[in-house]
Amino acid sequence: MKYVSTRGGDAVSLEQALLSGIAADGGLYVPQEMPLFSSHNFSGAATLADVGRIFLAPFFAGSSLAPELQEILAETFDFPIPITPLATPAGEAGLLELFHGPTAAFKDVGAGFLAACMSRLDAGGDKPLTILVATSGDTGGAVAAAFNERPGIRVAVLYPDGRVSARQAQQLTCWSENVLSLAVQGTFDDCQALVKEAMADRDLSEAHRFSSANSINIGRLLPQAIYYAHASLQHWFESGRKASFVVPTGNLGNALAAFIARLAGLPIDDIVIATNANRTIVDYLETADWLPRESIQTHASAMDVGNPSNMERVRALFGDAEILQELTRAVAVNDAAIEEEIRRTYADSGVIVCPHTATAIHVWRHMNEDQRKGKDWILVATAHPAKFETIVEPLIGTKVPLPPELARILALPSRFQRMQPELSALSDCLRNGYNAA
Ligand SMILES: *Cc1c(COP(=O)(O)O)cnc(C)c1O
Repeated sequence: MKYVSTRGGDAVSLEQALLSGIAADGGLYVPQEMPLFSSHNFSGAATLADVGRIFLAPFFAGSSLAPELQEILAETFDFPIPITPLATPAGEAGLLELFHGPTAAFKDVGAGFLAACMSRLDAGGDKPLTILVATSGDTGGAVAAAFNERPGIRVAVLYPDGRVSARQAQQLTCWSENVLSLAVQGTFDDCQALVKEAMADRDLSEAHRFSSANSINIGRLLPQAIYYAHASLQHWFESGRKASFVVPTGNLGNALAAFIARLAGLPIDDIVIATNANRTIVDYLETADWLPRESIQTHASAMDVGNPSNMERVRALFGDAEILQELTRAVAVNDAAIEEEIRRTYADSGVIVCPHTATAIHVWRHMNEDQRKGKDWILVATAHPAKFETIVEPLIGTKVPLPPELARILALPSRFQRMQPELSALSDCLRNGYNAA
């Protein structure tokens, strides 16, 4: 399989798409063709890794990574992704729990898979690769955890000092020698600008062999389709019925993965998008005008995206607003509704959910009869509520129990380097590690 840029350009190999992240013409890589499966292709495939091996085989065909796919998947899916029942007075749904990975959020899937691929691609390089990540909190932790202790690869995580939560800060700073945690004296935008500046600097780029692991990398998208494939097949083999999903999304990566699974023939019926108050996608589906804007801060902070970059992929693979209106619908959920949903879900069902998951539950609960009836709904739960305890605990009036993976991380020693938002400071830190002046 070759990968092509959304803006034209030459087709490249999977390896090249993974290592460069973004295409030379500034576009995003998409698969050149889409495989088509039917459910019986997956009979006997029980685990996420089993389903993933069948699903990704065409996407890996012809790649040097193809013989390693099984091991890559075993490393990625070394935690469960169960569907648990959510019983409410309004009806029943399933919760697809994507938050049992090392940092208790669904980005562990994409980051883990990308790390497993990259460490195999670069085996034997004489200088380590340096993955640069700017993070406002969640992505950096998942990427650091995924690359932690991988030989031949180092990660530099840049985050705004004092502007991430205490638990997020711990997840950014508790790793081994190969993860450099840089507490930038500035904002997230400063971090992002600095990463861009460093990547564009020839000398620095060559000296450190920069690469990125951000959410537009195709290596983060492909594995996310696997949990949709697995969940829908499990439901299909149990009930003979298709599953419908409500997907909390920000940069549109999570929803796009569901679209890809359905396009590839998996037994998926409706896919409904839940956003927070950042309603760029919702407005586009309503008005057909694509109007990216500044993001606004919400309780579902990992979805605070005003310019969802994966829309470029969605339009390249599917088409513009008129076609997308046939494929999906999108609903924006504001902070007041998120709060109400967290409270209500706990009161009605005894289930504690994070603010991102609450957007999906809210959208499902407020569907009209026509939209909801006759379908089997699975609501996607993207983070463990204990990651967002400062929002959740006051709403439910009780402590959120810590899951073992978070408890382990919170107990580790933490270490970081403070840094001014300047290229020379970043250069010093990269050269000297934790001993920089
Ligand atoms: C990143 C994230 C999302 C949104 O994912 P996209 O790929 O941006 O659609 C939702 N919930 C949580 C907890 C996240 O970390």
